[in-house]
Amino acid sequence: MDPIIKSLDQLYCDSLTSYSRRKTIPVRIGDVIVGGDNPIVVQSMTTVDTLDTEGSIEQSIRMIEAGCELVRITAPSIKEAENLQHIKDGLRKRGYSTPLVADIHFTPNAAEVAARIVEKVRVNPGNYADKKKFEVIEYTDATYQDELDRIRERFLPLVKICKEHGTAMRIGTNHGSLSDRIMSRYGDTPLGMVESALEFLRICEDENYFDIVISMKSSNTQVMVQAYRLLVEKLNEGGFKPYPLHLGVTEAGEAEDGRIKSAVGIGTLLEDGLGDTVRVSLTEDPEFEAPVAKALIDRYTHRQDHAPIKSISNYPVNPYEHFKRESEEVYNFGGHNVPRVITDISKIEKITEKEIKVVGHFYLPELDKWKMNDQGCDFVYSGTNPIPFMLPNGMKEIQDAAIWSTVEDKANKFPLFDLVSFSLAGLFHEEINFLEIFDTEIAEAIALISQRKDTVLILKTENKHAMPALRRALVSLLEADCRVPVILKVSYPDQSADETMLYTATDVGGLLIDGLGDGVFISLEKEREHSREEVLAQIKLHNSVGFGVLQAARTRMSKTEYISCPSCGRTLFDLQETTAMIRKRTDHLKGVKIGIMGCIVNGPGEMADADYGYVGSGKGKITLYKGKEVMKRSVPSEKAVDKLIEIIKEDGMWNEPEVI
Ligand code: SF4
Repeated sequence: MDPIIKSLDQLYCDSLTSYSRRKTIPVRIGDVIVGGDNPIVVQSMTTVDTLDTEGSIEQSIRMIEAGCELVRITAPSIKEAENLQHIKDGLRKRGYSTPLVADIHFTPNAAEVAARIVEKVRVNPGNYADKKKFEVIEYTDATYQDELDRIRERFLPLVKICKEHGTAMRIGTNHGSLSDRIMSRYGDTPLGMVESALEFLRICEDENYFDIVISMKSSNTQVMVQAYRLLVEKLNEGGFKPYPLHLGVTEAGEAEDGRIKSAVGIGTLLEDGLGDTVRVSLTEDPEFEAPVAKALIDRYTHRQDHAPIKSISNYPVNPYEHFKRESEEVYNFGGHNVPRVITDISKIEKITEKEIKVVGHFYLPELDKWKMNDQGCDFVYSGTNPIPFMLPNGMKEIQDAAIWSTVEDKANKFPLFDLVSFSLAGLFHEEINFLEIFDTEIAEAIALISQRKDTVLILKTENKHAMPALRRALVSLLEADCRVPVILKVSYPDQSADETMLYTATDVGGLLIDGLGDGVFISLEKEREHSREEVLAQIKLHNSVGFGVLQAARTRMSKTEYISCPSCGRTLFDLQETTAMIRKRTDHLKGVKIGIMGCIVNGPGEMADADYGYVGSGKGKITLYKGKEVMKRSVPSEKAVDKLIEIIKEDGMWNEPEVI
């Protein structure tokens, strides 16, 4: 862990322990106000061609009906910008007053048209006045200033139009599309992202134009969280107004992965009171995005009533860079080990070899052998229901201490204690003992653990401000220099699968982003009767969410990562279908990152740190990348996946899928 201690007045939020939303200026966008004391606003973006007026209207209505309060539409050229008028008129005629936002990349002239029509324009400071050449140019202070003067000249007309028409603006930085100028001075860092927005913001403030919302998006959740925090610090430090924040993770992907990745980034910031409007971008139809955003936001409606958490006077964590908290290695927890997944199977009596496949371990009776997939859990917690067969090698069992003390095979099973049973115990495992505590018991636990170096702490909380409550307990460990490995345990009785994904990603992911935590444990607590099948389905979900959260927080890569764009009016192929096709052939490539981007205009920049890229470059044409390097141009789409696999093979990153 970085030794720097941040004094609290250098921090990015009002409080690390008491929920409070950052006070921002209200920005009017048509009938909707973002920021101030107003509720957090949900927004989303259309995917149909902006020139398809009827299609855009229909899709916007579906999005609005699903809860979307601001509709963004891409305007890649003047033609599309002009057509925003027809879309707007069509929506108003059908009784929808939802404000529209024009999304602009590279085309100031389209922005200037759109700003006279819609209620808000989004500009990307990385490409508004710059064409990306991927060049590293050395700038002197004088040539850098010349560049800033050039930007001012390009950008000023838009600011004036917005001011005149009461149009709001989002200055939306993307990690993947920073200008060569910013890259050469700051690199693709959170600081570079912040400076990229501030260059544009200074021009707006010089013109007394303040109707601004700012975003700092990235597909890398650590970078995204750090950039937003740094932005707030720099706004405070630089005497800027407290502008509202638009939160989003770019190219999050689809289904479970997309939801978890979005929640790790967005949820982490919401926990600390940052964020005034949210867009969840999924590679799915846009009407599926608003309910996810809403589920994330709704957790904060009564959050300020949470039980008190002891305040922090010095914060021993660097919130702007990822450093893992140092912990001692105990068995295979902590130290330099990857964070572990413990899966709770304690509500299933006498689980069978066949059923244990829900935690990623497969028994093959014909061979009398076990196989494991990429999400084979490390430990199962069986509570008072011991597993009645020999476990596969890759998996270990944790039992309640009272049960463990009665079993014969004490070496290969591990005990779980609470504070009382731990302090009274006469018998411990020789290698590893688990101590489960609430955050409020941390002081007693520190005193007990100091006498035993074979302990792993399982930390949980009943506080509804869960992430900060767990974080406070981890700060206590840091203050006491207690290096016990810590597993973060969460529990969400009887809720939907989506909620489990989003809440775990927020409550655990938010800590992992800051290097806090050596594993995840989702508890299986039920409020009502469930069939055995339902419980097994729940266990399967918890197991995959555990791995998903570790991957989304970039702390353990257990599967292929797809950085796929949400698609928009520029998209050149069916993103959902294509992503599914690529996933089918490559989802066994553990840890490999594949970018799937709908257009060549923004795609190469937006796919950020993908190892390989599949980018639409014309109707039925795909350009393939290795990192940022073009490997094959204009490949016919029917051959593109095979060619992509060839590139991965030539690069030595391919392996054949195992058949289970
Ligand atoms: S990368 Fe995807 S979402 Fe971004 S502009 Fe291109 S098609 Fe639209």
